[in-house]
Amino acid sequence: MPICIECRYPLRTLYTTYSKADDRSLGKGVRLTQCPRCKRFGDKYVEHDFVVLFIDLVLIKPQVYRHLLFNRLGREDDRFDPSIVRLGVLLLLFDVYLTWARIEKASPNPFASSPSDPSSSDPSSPASSSLNAPDAALLSSQPLVLQYMFFLGLCTAQTLAFHLPIRFLCAHPPRLTPFIPLIPHHPHPTPLSTALLVSSCTKLFPLLLIIWDYDLPSSASAVSWAVIVNNVAALEILMDCGYLRAALLVAVGAAVRALVGRVVLGCVGFGTGIFGVLDALGVPGGVEGVGRAVGVVGGWVAG
Ligand SMILES: [Zn+2]
Repeated sequence: MPICIECRYPLRTLYTTYSKADDRSLGKGVRLTQCPRCKRFGDKYVEHDFVVLFIDLVLIKPQVYRHLLFNRLGREDDRFDPSIVRLGVLLLLFDVYLTWARIEKASPNPFASSPSDPSSSDPSSPASSSLNAPDAALLSSQPLVLQYMFFLGLCTAQTLAFHLPIRFLCAHPPRLTPFIPLIPHHPHPTPLSTALLVSSCTKLFPLLLIIWDYDLPSSASAVSWAVIVNNVAALEILMDCGYLRAALLVAVGAAVRALVGRVVLGCVGFGTGIFGVLDALGVPGGVEGVGRAVGVVGGWVAG
């Protein structure tokens, strides 16, 4: 059932159509429902286009999250809306590019001081390149398709590691809620993943770096932190559980995701220095890598 995006009051309908010939997105032919409790329009966003929605999403307006999570993407059968599946795939593929570029950029440093290869300790030596480092060679000597499949698997595992703990924690029986007051209860896991995916669309922001200079260390980190803030806000708006509990859930998910990332990367010989810490925090370590990924995606889109 749709709700009023201002006060969460349940509404029977969001608008009344009185002329099918007109375009709803232009505000013609529909009459918005007025909320009986707060006397404002139940959902003004049914008349707004995607650009306005995206801007308000970036500005973390609770109304736009309520519109998306409850009135547009919420389904009675507890399944994902097809548009969310497409967004999830897009975010995953974008993650693959960003992670690949970031790791490629960050990998020379850990291997430069690798004790198993003394020649690589000289930064001026060609042997210090990640391509020649013994551990990195395991991955970088593989065909590009295999490398891509590895990063696709890594990002899929990281995404699952972020979503599943949050879904599991919130699915606890309601009778346990008094004993774990910091964990909110939410009976349906699908809206949780929908909220996390919708709020992660700020990840697509590096696309904008094509226009502006991307060689700023703070820009890539800011995007990652913006995603985390959006995740917390989305969970809070979905469950109405308070920012502390939402932040705790996101922190648990991010910690498990970082752990899975480190274990998988450790298996192929990547070290966990400062890069591991940055990765654990979700902070990109290589802005140049972001720019390179943007170039790859931009070229793909253009060509
Ligand atoms: Zn209302």
